[in-house]
Amino acid sequence: MTRSLRYFVCLISLALGVSAHSAAQNPQQKPQAGTSFMAPPQSTAADQQNFPALLLQQLSAIKAAALNDDYAYRELAHLTENIGARPTGSVQARTAAEYVAGELRKLGLDVRLQPVTVPHWVRGAETAALVEYPGMAPDTTQKIILTALGGSGSTPMEGITADVVPVNTFDELAALGRDRVAGKIVLFNEVFDKQKAAGGLAFAAYGEAVRYRAAGPKAAADLGAAAALVRSVGNADYRLPHTGFSFPAGIPAGAVTAEDAELIVHLAAQGRVRMHLTLTPQKLPDETSYNVIADLKGSEHPEQTVIVSGHLDSWDLGTGAIDDGAGVVIAMETAEILQRLHLRPARTLRVIAWMDEETGGSGSKGYSAEYAADFAHYVAAIESDAGAAHPLGFDVKASTAAIDMLRPVQVVLQSIGATVLQPTTYPPGADIAAMSEAGVPAFGVMQDGRTYFNYHHTAADTLDKVVPGELRENAATMAVMAYALANMKEPLPR
Ligand SMILES: [Zn+2]
Repeated sequence: MTRSLRYFVCLISLALGVSAHSAAQNPQQKPQAGTSFMAPPQSTAADQQNFPALLLQQLSAIKAAALNDDYAYRELAHLTENIGARPTGSVQARTAAEYVAGELRKLGLDVRLQPVTVPHWVRGAETAALVEYPGMAPDTTQKIILTALGGSGSTPMEGITADVVPVNTFDELAALGRDRVAGKIVLFNEVFDKQKAAGGLAFAAYGEAVRYRAAGPKAAADLGAAAALVRSVGNADYRLPHTGFSFPAGIPAGAVTAEDAELIVHLAAQGRVRMHLTLTPQKLPDETSYNVIADLKGSEHPEQTVIVSGHLDSWDLGTGAIDDGAGVVIAMETAEILQRLHLRPARTLRVIAWMDEETGGSGSKGYSAEYAADFAHYVAAIESDAGAAHPLGFDVKASTAAIDMLRPVQVVLQSIGATVLQPTTYPPGADIAAMSEAGVPAFGVMQDGRTYFNYHHTAADTLDKVVPGELRENAATMAVMAYALANMKEPLPR
């Protein structure tokens, strides 16, 4: 996998997170070494040393406060409804950064807007119709519902008309060769595995299918295709197209709905299928946007840092409630609760609202460029970027010794059910990947993903998809873990 593959969110890191989600929802599966699915029967001397009674009381108080707090939901409502969609490079994304910075200043945090240069791609017209196919009624067409993929090239304003060539795999495409691909519209018909998603393996299903969204258009362009389409990477049957990042291929690239992919494949099996396709997105000049970085200074070890984060940019079709306004607002609420309860972290708590997770990770790259020298002092980094549904625990990239030290936190989170600490071999969050790879223990909030890909990257990623009680559980889970990491006696070992 190339380095940039990691940046499709929810793509590689979470796609590989399969085992985490399967284990969480499959009681038959045996925990791996270092995995604790249940709270331990009793605490050890080391636990008591690291988590004195006062700290445990504070963690319980944080949990109780979060479960009765609508701060995160109110902030999410503002981000999604008052500001709206926040695509990278947009005025809304910049406004959201300024808004979040202002809200965190109101809480008394030391706030910085870190400028980052981001790409700016805007959607244009997007229409398609089948204009020739076996058995068609005279002088008719069939409408195809689709949306441009991020970074897609453009057709002429009047569109193009070309044969559609469906393939199921990259190997099938290669077998066709340039002669049968050049000048055609290639359709990658990789099917999102709904049964995996229903069984708790949604991120595995996503990982399998999203390879075609990411790399398909480039593979088709390399054989001279006029345009590339992918079957939407999604889970629900409401004829919704799902957008997302695709490696720049220099040709128009779109996602058709699953239903329309089926239609085209069926007709193409009977004979020639021609499509009229109009996609006119534009790549505009790069823009300056911002990561929001806000500190609650540590009282004892200010140089030791615990990060809580989500990403502020969204796709343009919906309003980015589950991807990833939710991650940003629960990180904000961690700070809000500590301030409201007058709990001073011993280590510095840093809230980060990342910019541009979705289209290349320029926010996390810019952060690393400026702060990499500090990573040696970072104690842990948390990102939430897998939705807002009920939390099950965390995917954790850390040593077994580090995970074992967190048993007392599992006890506190047991009443929520967020007890899973699933060891991973990959960074459990795109924006915290660089620090994870530098050795910083990294945590990704693990949400129930069964319905996430019904809405992910569609026009239906809106506030109503967030259940307030589940958002509160997420806020509690992140805040408890963050304060534990900031205040346990020994810093988490690497
Ligand atoms: Zn995301």
